[in-house]
Amino acid sequence: MKPSVLVTGASSGIGATYSDRFARRGHDLVLVARDTARMEAMAADLRRETGVAIDILPADLTRPDDLAAVEARLGDDDAIGILINNAGASLGGGFVNQATDDVGRLIALNVTAVARLASAVAPRLAKAGEGAIVNIGSVVGLAPEMGMSVYGATKAFVLFLSQSLSVELGPKGVYVQAVLPAATRTEIWERSGADVNALRAVMEVGELVDAALVGFDLRETVTVPPLPDPAEWDAYQAARQAMLPNFAQVHAADRYRKAS
Ligand code: NAP
Repeated sequence: MKPSVLVTGASSGIGATYSDRFARRGHDLVLVARDTARMEAMAADLRRETGVAIDILPADLTRPDDLAAVEARLGDDDAIGILINNAGASLGGGFVNQATDDVGRLIALNVTAVARLASAVAPRLAKAGEGAIVNIGSVVGLAPEMGMSVYGATKAFVLFLSQSLSVELGPKGVYVQAVLPAATRTEIWERSGADVNALRAVMEVGELVDAALVGFDLRETVTVPPLPDPAEWDAYQAARQAMLPNFAQVHAADRYRKAS
């Protein structure tokens, strides 16, 4: 029996495409998002085409009570073996023009919900010694230069969380993957007031998810579908890891010490 897959943000874009692909692989699904009618329509098509069982769990993941219901499902339902932590949003404009409440809501969705849902499922998967958590980050989380401060910071969190959970949960048999898309044609752009057609290069969502699933099947920790040369990622990780032994020091570095 294949594990069920709980997909957040399943009503459109990347989440809807993951749902389609896992249904076609024969996995039952639990779909989570706010737009119930859209998920019902999607589920009806997928049930007919693939024969898998699909549950709809409507939730606004910025609302603590809705989030708690999804956490409970992840913690209690032993059939769920894969979490696709995908729901997310962006925020238009620069930091000084973004409303503080909007910044808070973005962090609630892109950070708090991602971490809480992973936390809700991880102990059960670790106990079972199997399962997977897939977190959708973004290349923006690697690029403060792109001018999307809070969105990028939320995605940097997703990458760090995924890499460190992989270190902790990997030896317990739980696979953790971070997927870092670049610009992909979904509704996220118009939802945040941006024009996707003004971008230099945009990947179609089916190609993005199919590539991410190649990384999933290879059990990659970090999958960056658009990056042509994986040696660049490896060099970036090696540069970071080279610093680690040098952080343990009794004294500040010479450049920070006043001559006495
Ligand atoms: P999308 O088409 O706008 O999908 C976002 C999904 O999240 C929708 O299903 C939406 O459903 C759900 N969602 C939004 N707010 C929610 C809330 N408060 N509670 C529950 N669900 C909510 O965009 P997408 O591009 O597929 O985004 C999916 C993920 O990919 C995000 O984490 C995004 O940051 C990441 N990503 C996207 C791109 C890109 O260029 N598209 C690039 C890098 C990373 P409802 O409206 O029905 O709730």
